[in-house]
Amino acid sequence: MGIVKKKIFLKTFLELMSKKIVEMETILKENLGEYSIPERVLTRFCLDEGGILGKAACHTNTIYLDQYLIERYKEYYLKHTFVHEYAHLVVNTIYPGHIKDGVLISDHGIEFRKICQMFGIYGDACSDLEYLSSFPLEQRLVPHS
Ligand SMILES: [Zn+2]
Repeated sequence: MGIVKKKIFLKTFLELMSKKIVEMETILKENLGEYSIPERVLTRFCLDEGGILGKAACHTNTIYLDQYLIERYKEYYLKHTFVHEYAHLVVNTIYPGHIKDGVLISDHGIEFRKICQMFGIYGDACSDLEYLSSFPLEQRLVPHS
């Protein structure tokens, strides 16, 4: 993809993500109220192709996304990876520092999965790109242990 085409593609993707965020905020408001919505969410693209599938930095409300994977798996990436990362920010908004009743909760624990279910995705672990990449897209929707 040429550099101009790439810029247009990413701009379009950013717009789609903004729409997705509004959608998710509406779901949160309906289910949990305003307080559950993360403050302004920033998006950064990782350009080193392949280190991460997606990553959420809760202290800065930033979601890191892999540009190469976005180009390759646009729809899937938006509907699953992006939503998954956003759910991490939501959990941290509800339980700052991932602390619930004085106890550290797990990244992909029951609280996280509950939010994912609200958004219509599985709360499976996100970090193993190699593992995910070895399956056809449709099969990656199945939660893996
Ligand atoms: Zn995750």
